[in-house]
Amino acid sequence: MELWYTEEHTENVRFSIKVDRQLYSNQSEFQRIDVFESREFGTFFTLDGLMMVTEKDEFIYHDMIVHVAMATNPKIKNVLVIGAGDGGTVRELTRYDSIENIDMVEIDKLVVEVCKEYLPQTACKLEDPRVNLFFEDGLKFVRTKENAYDLVIVDSTDPFGPGEGLFTKEFYGNCYKALKDDGILVNQHESPYYEDYAQNMGRAHKRIKEFFPVCRVYQAHIPTYPSGHWLFGFASKKYDPLVDLNEQAWNDLGLKTQYYNTEIHKGCFALPTYVKELLASATD
Ligand code: SAM
Repeated sequence: MELWYTEEHTENVRFSIKVDRQLYSNQSEFQRIDVFESREFGTFFTLDGLMMVTEKDEFIYHDMIVHVAMATNPKIKNVLVIGAGDGGTVRELTRYDSIENIDMVEIDKLVVEVCKEYLPQTACKLEDPRVNLFFEDGLKFVRTKENAYDLVIVDSTDPFGPGEGLFTKEFYGNCYKALKDDGILVNQHESPYYEDYAQNMGRAHKRIKEFFPVCRVYQAHIPTYPSGHWLFGFASKKYDPLVDLNEQAWNDLGLKTQYYNTEIHKGCFALPTYVKELLASATD
């Protein structure tokens, strides 16, 4: 007998991974959570049937969502992370001794509990003394913050279900307000390739651009996400990730990474022409 996990990337495209067994399945207050074991990607978990994290390729996503901003401004001390229940983003942030405080706001406590049990590879640093966990809606949490953070990372699900509010103008405006004068916002920015994802990408870009003077998009190759071509947003009040990249300072830290390096940093902002055109013509 063969067992396969299948995700619909579009109505006409399916992506499947052969699984050895299902380790967990439950419905939380917010979403369905499943954990599988597979030969190719190791343990992986899904929310409402959509891929979140696999042991084999999570390093790409977590390197790229953290290190680009950290290499642009090595003085980042106070960070807000929204979503990110698997802990991978926090794990990468805790590698910087210079970071003093990380507030992580995850709506679904069960995601964190499940990841602590089944995905210690990503959840291993959630007990770091600099990390404060808040189990709340990120949309509401940022409403009350002003001039507080050097970096806000939005590591969310897609813009439907609990994640919907994290792609709204209200949310981006409040992130702007929550950031200090030289603050940076990094967000998972969907994919440019399939139409539905591309629409989400364009809408997010258009909305973020309304608030931030610096607003760029960068890319990575993530095999288990739809089309494998994934984007991140870099928005900031002051720093440009290409002009202000502090290559020497980041390399002097001696952090060992599997995907990110300062060459990738410079290259990842070079986007294919069709993606540039989609971003330029994006409508709300
Ligand atoms: N790397 C993943 C991806 O892009 O597929 C995202 C990882 S992380 C698991 C996303 C988390 O965002 C989920 O655990 C989900 O519960 C959380 N989330 C969704 N909406 C949220 C909200 N409004 N406030 C806080 N967390 C939220």
